[in-house]
Amino acid sequence: MAQMLIGGQLVGAQGGKTIPVRNPANGESVGDIPRGTASDVDAALAAAAKALPAWAAMPGTKRAQLMHQAALKMHEVVDEVAKLLALEQGKPLAHAKIEAERVAENLEYFAGLADKLRGDYIPLDDPAKFGITIRRPVGVVVAITPWNFPLTLMANKLCPALAAGCTIVLKPASTTPLATQRAIEAIASAGFPAGVINTVHGSGGEIGDVLVSHPRVNKIAFTGQTETGKRIMQLASKNVTRVTLELGGSDPMIVCDDADIRRATAAAAIGRFFNAGQACLAVKRIFVFEKVAQEFMAKFTDRASKEWKIGDQFAADTKMGPLHTETQRNEVEAQVADAVKRGAKVLAGGERPAAPEYAKGWYYPATVLSDVPEDSRMATEEVFGPAVPIFIVTDLDEAIAKANATVYGLGSSIFTKDMAKARRAAEQLDAGYTWVNDIQVAYDQLPFGGVKQSGYGKEHGIEALEGYTDKKSVVLASG
Ligand code: NDP
Repeated sequence: MAQMLIGGQLVGAQGGKTIPVRNPANGESVGDIPRGTASDVDAALAAAAKALPAWAAMPGTKRAQLMHQAALKMHEVVDEVAKLLALEQGKPLAHAKIEAERVAENLEYFAGLADKLRGDYIPLDDPAKFGITIRRPVGVVVAITPWNFPLTLMANKLCPALAAGCTIVLKPASTTPLATQRAIEAIASAGFPAGVINTVHGSGGEIGDVLVSHPRVNKIAFTGQTETGKRIMQLASKNVTRVTLELGGSDPMIVCDDADIRRATAAAAIGRFFNAGQACLAVKRIFVFEKVAQEFMAKFTDRASKEWKIGDQFAADTKMGPLHTETQRNEVEAQVADAVKRGAKVLAGGERPAAPEYAKGWYYPATVLSDVPEDSRMATEEVFGPAVPIFIVTDLDEAIAKANATVYGLGSSIFTKDMAKARRAAEQLDAGYTWVNDIQVAYDQLPFGGVKQSGYGKEHGIEALEGYTDKKSVVLASG
């Protein structure tokens, strides 16, 4: 059974209960985790608070050394962690391996920034005084992560927090805790002082409220559904705890009539079907100019039907594993059914696979729809699975207006050879990211985070590090 890391010790839940973790390809149990309780949360936060002063006071170069060491430890367990991730999440093993390697890369990136936090010199009117700003770690961080990219989304919080001098309590999704726990044990073995990194496992519904409303918590970093984010925001107000919220999205892709259609269809397919569509940054609505609509639909449909083979996550030719849970598949099926009932045409996929090898898993094929009503569920809600609607538009004004007609604002993309169109899209699309002629891949160096109901606060880049610090003003007068 996996355990929790609290104050440097591997422990079970104080209540002694466990939660089974299952393989989405066949429903079989692949391990257990402790079913943490409020007392476990208390213990983890107490350990993080105790470790904070010494960790915050440690020179950045020393914190960086430990993080570099942790990256080496992570590299040593990449295969083991990737296997756990594929088993519990359902994604193909090769993709799980990329995700595990990303944790080590993220540690390296933020290790490089750990000694580069600095303040400003600010002249004041009085010549006998001047001001400076210094950056202090915010303190104890609670990080809550979802099941779709359990490792990268954990690392996005852990690495800047450690670099800034914060201590942390991580709560992974209860359906994907095993890879995260193993990765954290490897990272912690680099020699971090006890209590700097802690984990608690358990149901978000049971321990979430205690975690986010606890007076010892100085910052909550959350990735997950918009509805959960709203609740966390409310509860955080109890102690005026700062929050970073990375929530849902419904990213538009605009394909103009001068676009490289081959490139656009390749980006749309990866952007929509990678991780079986269970990604926050993903192509979730496509707006294509009338003139190239038929060509785009034919080529994209061809890719969806031929290139995205579904199958067991450990088979070498699998491009899409099962969806993570039955609920997840039911949700996508219901969204597609709603569109079809209201007149949409299915161009690819649209039905769960009938072959017996798929019977025990939550499989769903790459699905493409046209003629989807603009007030249908697929057009107005986040589709967290491998299905995408294509809308035909006449020009960029219409495309941008429709792209922005959503409560979300996470990613976006445009395919065009006209830099004026690209620039307009970059300036006018309501999103935290716009890719021009490229696939939706987030970079460590670029700040990432949403607008509107996709959340606020940044991960990645120096902005993420700054988000784990507070800028304090100091006035120095000649004594
Ligand atoms: P959830 O919001 O259901 O769960 C996310 C995490 O929150 C889990 O660890 C969950 O625990 C925990 N949780 C659940 N209820 C509470 C609560 N009341 N208080 C505190 N924590 C709680 O999201 P999903 O796991 O379903 O993730 C999918 C969503 O995440 C999608 O909407 C997706 O767009 C979004 N997402 C956003 C990203 C971004 O960067 N903007 C990136 C990736 C995903 P438990 O598992 O035990 O329920």
